[in-house]
Amino acid sequence: MSDGPTYGFDTLQIHAGARPDPATGARQTPIYQSTAYVFRDADHAAALFNLQEVGYIYSRLTNPTVAVLQERLATLEGGVGAVCCSSGHAAQIMALFPLMGPGKNVVASTRLYGGTVTQFSQTIKRFGWSAKFVDFDDLDALRDAIDDDTRAVFCESVANPGGYVTDVRAVADVADAAGLPLIVDNTSATPYLCQPISQGATLVVHSTTKYLTGNGTVTGGCIVDSGKFDWSASDKFPSLSAPEPAYHGLKFHETFGNLAFTFHGIAIGLRDLGMTMNPQAAHYTLMGIETLSLRMQRHVENAVKVATWLENDPRVDYVTYAGLPSSPYADRAKRCYPKGTGGLFTVALKGGYDACVKFVDSLEIFSHVANLGDTRSLVIHSASTTHRQLTPEQQQAAGAGPNVVRISIGIEDADDLIRDLDQALAKACS
Ligand SMILES: *Cc1c(COP(=O)(O)O)cnc(C)c1O
Repeated sequence: MSDGPTYGFDTLQIHAGARPDPATGARQTPIYQSTAYVFRDADHAAALFNLQEVGYIYSRLTNPTVAVLQERLATLEGGVGAVCCSSGHAAQIMALFPLMGPGKNVVASTRLYGGTVTQFSQTIKRFGWSAKFVDFDDLDALRDAIDDDTRAVFCESVANPGGYVTDVRAVADVADAAGLPLIVDNTSATPYLCQPISQGATLVVHSTTKYLTGNGTVTGGCIVDSGKFDWSASDKFPSLSAPEPAYHGLKFHETFGNLAFTFHGIAIGLRDLGMTMNPQAAHYTLMGIETLSLRMQRHVENAVKVATWLENDPRVDYVTYAGLPSSPYADRAKRCYPKGTGGLFTVALKGGYDACVKFVDSLEIFSHVANLGDTRSLVIHSASTTHRQLTPEQQQAAGAGPNVVRISIGIEDADDLIRDLDQALAKACS
């Protein structure tokens, strides 16, 4: 496909980054199941290792199947480049890695995927990094939390486990005024519902495990670079602006311009951290993305129907879904997420913890699993699983109290889903 500037999302989700295989004409992107690539000659090899020429060396760094996925995701998100990696959590570490250092902190929203709260509040301490959690509805609190050691601001667009949507533009303005990059986890929204870069985000991270692949087959992650951040405007980001000893003093920003972050992610991040996506995973994810817009439309349509039904059921205490008119975020959702707020929400049962456990055990179409964003409808009792490591306060802040079940609505018939929920509620609340 030529670089036509005007293709729509539905066209790009199928074609961006892909072209008939130059060797065979294969129309579908082949799975390049090869660890290494033959150098033309010794000069070619030296140029590749010096980053003077772009090409394939070894599949820990780059692979032609993964490269197609990287280009497709960069295109769909409106970025200049992307780096794929082994999982969403790997993407978060890979995004922070060039920015942070011992003693540095990231200011993060309280409304995050439970695993991210754990990664940020516990594990990153081992690198000497830390996180400060703030309510991103309170922009003054966000401003106050930023200090001289802050190196990034982090939030989710549509937040997992659902019910909350971030005003990315408002948060980006605060980060921008502080001279800091904004990283947005766009996993639950996908680029079909939200393009954070168009609203001022510097980097977008994904768990491609979820809606992008869409069928629960492979884990993966991705970092998309907007190419818009000036890494040399301050001395805060030496990994990108200062000479890199591991490449004979090369300066990434000076050398690669708006692709500095992407090149660093491959040449340092993947090379040394090794959190690489394999070509099989890239293949499944490329397959999934071909139908992303169609699936997201159905996820949203079904979620609105099911959430509305649940909200009106007397056994239900409340439903948090930003796509409902009753949501405190309904206005923001309409303004910032006009195509909908995805397929994730939480439901609180009047019967509390015990009813929730019976409810998830009684469902027949819905599966009780630690995943989301599948074509299949899924549920999880977050408090006893994904959010188990969190304190009660963190659970509440994340919308994952003991009386709450997270629902990921699939693309089945909505009427069947409602019937299943009805019979399970009957068993749970008897
Ligand atoms: C699942 C998820 C992650 C982590 O992704 P993995 O692929 O499981 O490592 C991060 N953020 C959000 C919003 C997620 O839903």
